[in-house]
Amino acid sequence: MDPRVDLIRSRIRDVADFPKPGILFRDITPLLSDGVAFRTAIDLLAEQARPLAPEVIVGIESRGFLFGAPLATALGIGFVPVRKPGKLPHATTREEYDLEYGTDAVEMHSDALSHGTRVLVVDDVIATGGTARATCKLVKRLGGEIVGAAFLIELTFLDGGAKLAPIPTIALVRY
Ligand code: AMP
Repeated sequence: MDPRVDLIRSRIRDVADFPKPGILFRDITPLLSDGVAFRTAIDLLAEQARPLAPEVIVGIESRGFLFGAPLATALGIGFVPVRKPGKLPHATTREEYDLEYGTDAVEMHSDALSHGTRVLVVDDVIATGGTARATCKLVKRLGGEIVGAAFLIELTFLDGGAKLAPIPTIALVRY
């Protein structure tokens, strides 16, 4: 086991019953406030992402920005935000997805990608995979080629990775 992964795991705090009863929330704020651990997480993500040769990172609001933007600079590539509806100022395209109760949606600027751009999708956590899958649909609609999806944390019991298959999935810590 890579001791760097142990460091990252030790900086993830479990918060029971947040944001609602029965959810064990994986809180990454202790990792963000530890400069060595944060840097290590970005280094590890960059090591695993580099062979996929992405040309742009698509980061998912909001915690996906915290890892996606530094990963983009580490790889020397650009960053494109995926946001909740109504936040992006220019013309957007939208993808809705099902939640346990109701629906949610994500948006991207319609001109954010050129055709054939190699995209790595980034978020902090993959749970059910619904958010990441909706993001992948947006990227494909805009002409992007998805080379992978990278997360700090994968909640394997929710099987979100299967929703993204056959897209290769990177996760530093799995529960
Ligand atoms: P999903 O669409 O179900 O894969 O949910 C992914 C989004 O929900 C991510 O952006 C996460 O930030 C957040 N999320 C879901 N479950 C958790 C959890 N147990 N701990 C922390 N964040 C979570």
